[in-house]
Amino acid sequence: MSYQTINPFNDEVIQTFENHDDDYVEQAISEGYALYKKWRNDPVSSRAEMLNKIADLMEEDAEHLAKVLTVEMGKRLVEAKGEVALSISIARYYAEHGADFLKPEPIKSSMGDAQVISRPTGVLMMVEPWNFPYYQIIRVFAPNYMAGNPMLLKHASNTPMAASEFEKIVQKAGVPTGTFANLFIDYDQVNKIIADDRVQGVALTGSERAGQLIAAEAGKNMKQSSLELGGSDPFIILDDADLSEIEKIIGGARLYNAGQVCTSSKRFIVTEKNYDAVLKMLKDAFSTAKLGDPMLDDTTLAPLSTTKAKKNLTKQVKEAVDAGATLAFGSVTQNQPAALFEPVILTNITKDNPAYYQEFFGPVGQIYKVKDEEEAITLANDSHYGLSGVVFGGSADHATEVASKIETGAVFVNSFGGTLPELPFGGVKNSGYGRELGRFGIETFVNKQLIVTK
Ligand code: NDP
Repeated sequence: MSYQTINPFNDEVIQTFENHDDDYVEQAISEGYALYKKWRNDPVSSRAEMLNKIADLMEEDAEHLAKVLTVEMGKRLVEAKGEVALSISIARYYAEHGADFLKPEPIKSSMGDAQVISRPTGVLMMVEPWNFPYYQIIRVFAPNYMAGNPMLLKHASNTPMAASEFEKIVQKAGVPTGTFANLFIDYDQVNKIIADDRVQGVALTGSERAGQLIAAEAGKNMKQSSLELGGSDPFIILDDADLSEIEKIIGGARLYNAGQVCTSSKRFIVTEKNYDAVLKMLKDAFSTAKLGDPMLDDTTLAPLSTTKAKKNLTKQVKEAVDAGATLAFGSVTQNQPAALFEPVILTNITKDNPAYYQEFFGPVGQIYKVKDEEEAITLANDSHYGLSGVVFGGSADHATEVASKIETGAVFVNSFGGTLPELPFGGVKNSGYGRELGRFGIETFVNKQLIVTK
C-alpha cells in the first residue's frame, strides 16, 4: 500500500511517503500505553490547556492547512478553510466541556455511596477517510485526548500529507510522548494493532466494506469499536414545503465537497405536487455549478478525490442508466480531465435498479416522485443505510413528526443542517454504530467505572 499525495485536479504526483515498519508501530503503541498509565491518574481538566494550544496552532497555520487539503484531495479552498475552522471549534469545544462531560456521577443507592467515574481505557486505533481529512481526525482525537486515551492514526492512503500536518501540529503544541502517532501502515498492521492487548478500541469512518472488516477484527479481539459509514440520505419535500427556502440550499445539499459527504442529501423524495418544480431547481443548481480548479474562488464544484473515485462513480451512473434510470441531467460519459466529474441527475429509479440501494459518493442526485407523505416515509426508510436526512414541510410541527418516522441517526427539519461540535453524529443500520461529537462522542471509549463505598 502506497501513501501518496496526488493532486486530483491535474493528476500531478506531489509526494510519496514511506511506510512505517513494525518496530515503529511497536514504539508508538508502547509509548501510548505508558502515557495511558500516567493519564489514568491525572484529572481530565489537566489536558484542556493543551487542546486549546493545538487549536491555537491550527488557527495560526489555517491558510497552509487548508491548502494542503485542496492540493491533496481536491476540496475547494473556501471549503477547506471551513473544515479547518470547524476542526478548531471541535478542539475548543472539548477543551471547554470535556471535564464537565466526564465528571463523576453520583447514584442514589441503598448499598452505600455510589458513583460512576469516567476512566480512560487504553490506546485507541483510528482509521479515517479522505473526505474531511482534519475534521475526521479531530472528531476522535479531541474527545479522547480529554478522556485520556492515547491515539494511533491510519489515515487514507490518498491523504498522507494532511495526516502528517496534523501530527506536526500536535507535536509542536508539546503534547506528552505517546499522545498521538500517525502511522503509514497496511491493513495487516492495523489488524495487529487492534489485536494488541494495550489497544482497547478502534474508531472507523469509511465504507461499509471497511466497516465489516474492522468490526470483525474488533469483535474477534473483544475490543470496543465505533463505525461511521456511508449514507444514502433522504431529502423529503412535503406538499406544503416552502420551495423558496429549498431553492437556496438544494445545490449545496448535494454538491458540497463535490458530493463526497456521508450526510449529504442523495435521494430527493418529492410529492407529486412539487416534483417538477424541484427537478427544475436541482437542474438549475447543477447547471450553474462551475466545475474547475478548487484553488480558484469562482469554482463552485471541486473535482472528486481521486481518478479511481471518478471511475467508480462513472460506472455506477452507467449501470443505473443501463438498468432503466433516466438521465435527467448530465451525461454517462465523463470527458473532463483528471478527477473532474460533471454533475448528474437520475430519475425513474425503480427498486430493481442497483442505484436504488447504492450510495453515490459524488455529485449525482437521485429524484423520486411519490404520491404522498406515507410513501415518502416508506421510500426514505427503504434503504440499507440510516445516517441522516432532511424533511421540509410548511408546518414545522408536522414535519418534525414526519422526521420522527425516519430511521436515521439524525434528521434536520426545514434546513439542510450540517455538523457542529455539540451535535452528536452517527447512524443506524449499515451506516454504522456509535456516536461522535457532542457529549455522546466523548463516552464511546471511556470506562464508566462504578465505585461504591460503604
Ligand atoms: P474506505 O472505507 O476504503 O477507506 C476509509 C479508510 O479505511 C481509509 O483509511 C482506508 O485505507 C481504510 N481501510 C479500508 N479498508 C481497510 C481495512 N480492511 N483495514 C484497515 N483499514 C482499511 O473508503 P474509500 O476511500 O475506498 O471510499 C469508498 C466509499 O466509502 C465511498 O464511495 C463512500 O461510499 C464511503 N466513504 C464514506 C465516508 C464517510 O464519511 N462515511 C468517507 C469515505 C468513504 P486506504 O485508504 O489505505 O485504503
